[in-house]
Amino acid sequence: MAALRPPSVDVLARSIADVGLPHPLLVDAARAAIAGGDPASARDRAQATAAGLLGEVINATGVLLHTNMGRAPRRPPVSSPGTAVRYSNVEIDLDTGRRRSRSGHAAALLARAAGAEAAMVVNNGASAVLVVLAALAAGRQVIVSRGELVEIGGGFRIPEVLAASGATLVEVGTTNRTRLSDFQAAIGPDTALILVVHPSNYRITGFTKSVPLDALTALGVPVVSDIGSGLLDDRCPWLPGGPPTWLAGEPAARQTLAAGAGLVTFSGDKLLGGPQAGIIAGSGDLVARCERHPLSRAVRPGGMILADAQRTALAYLDGDATTLPLWAMATATVEGLRARAEAVAATCGGAVVDTEAVAGGGSLPGRGIPSVGVRVAGDHARALRSWEPPVVARVRDSATTTDLRSVDPADDEVVGNALAAALRA
Ligand SMILES: *Cc1c(COP(=O)(O)O)cnc(C)c1O
Repeated sequence: MAALRPPSVDVLARSIADVGLPHPLLVDAARAAIAGGDPASARDRAQATAAGLLGEVINATGVLLHTNMGRAPRRPPVSSPGTAVRYSNVEIDLDTGRRRSRSGHAAALLARAAGAEAAMVVNNGASAVLVVLAALAAGRQVIVSRGELVEIGGGFRIPEVLAASGATLVEVGTTNRTRLSDFQAAIGPDTALILVVHPSNYRITGFTKSVPLDALTALGVPVVSDIGSGLLDDRCPWLPGGPPTWLAGEPAARQTLAAGAGLVTFSGDKLLGGPQAGIIAGSGDLVARCERHPLSRAVRPGGMILADAQRTALAYLDGDATTLPLWAMATATVEGLRARAEAVAATCGGAVVDTEAVAGGGSLPGRGIPSVGVRVAGDHARALRSWEPPVVARVRDSATTTDLRSVDPADDEVVGNALAAALRA
């Protein structure tokens, strides 16, 4: 008897068209399934490809700035089908019709919100540091305390970024203690600047000493402070209740510049609550030197990111940052979260539990934010992740918890339904 002929790749690909991928990707799945001797697996393979595409997820981990989920939550720009597709005035002056600089909108507003003379927006916090060092210190020396030669994550290491910029690192002090005299002794004719790095993701405690910023800025050398998280003002004037206690000690752009730093650098998608971007803010002269460096052209963001950065800056200037999803989530009251959790628990039959959310994104290590979640017995993480839209939850001690602090209230019903379905399965 003749062996059963495998189905043709094309026929198999057409039979799984309902997965909703472009035909060439269905063909890839079909071909791989046949090559693996299991044509019936074509649908699963295509579905795995579809699940791997970039898409929206519900973050129920309680980690507000989750690096694996894009850090700060952002609303996509609304565009309903049927409306006209348009361009943007990113580099055109509508008054004269001539070309204008990209720094007139988002960057100018961010500078205003941070109390800086000028600012520029680049691709991310890492490129902000790289551009500053390349523009201001290539071929010269940069003084850094040994306690601040940190790795931020994703391979961003201060000594390596410094080397890549063409600057020479001058380490001063020790891991736990650095004095003003250490900086004074290191300053020479080749010193371009002092770099202060906020050790966002760890703490040195015990027998420690570091130099206050205003003492450093009095030394007569430009000070650049990489504050990382993008808190604009440590008094949080944009929050009705002022700064939440878990923010205490986090460096802020406005106060860092007021203490005499020439520039601050920070991320757009950490505590700033905006899109992935890096912001360089401070003295007009220093920002202009950064703008002129060729690297700036290489790390400039596109119009969509600039539009989102502008929306972010406008929310701060409006004095109400709770219109930014991050701050709405960060400042939700525990009572409000509990009421929401009770509704979710009623849908799925789970238990309302007190939890501890965190800022995440490498900021404020070890400082929890009181929160409330819904706990169900068993590990349902995978089932929740395969829900549409996927829900990412926490699993500990063979129980699954969805923390509502990082969930938009408009998604509570989805979370409840996803939990109920996972429990039925
Ligand atoms: C996060 C961080 C960076 C890097 O910023 P990205 O936006 O992740 O590139 C640099 N420095 C500090 C202190 C940070 O916290």
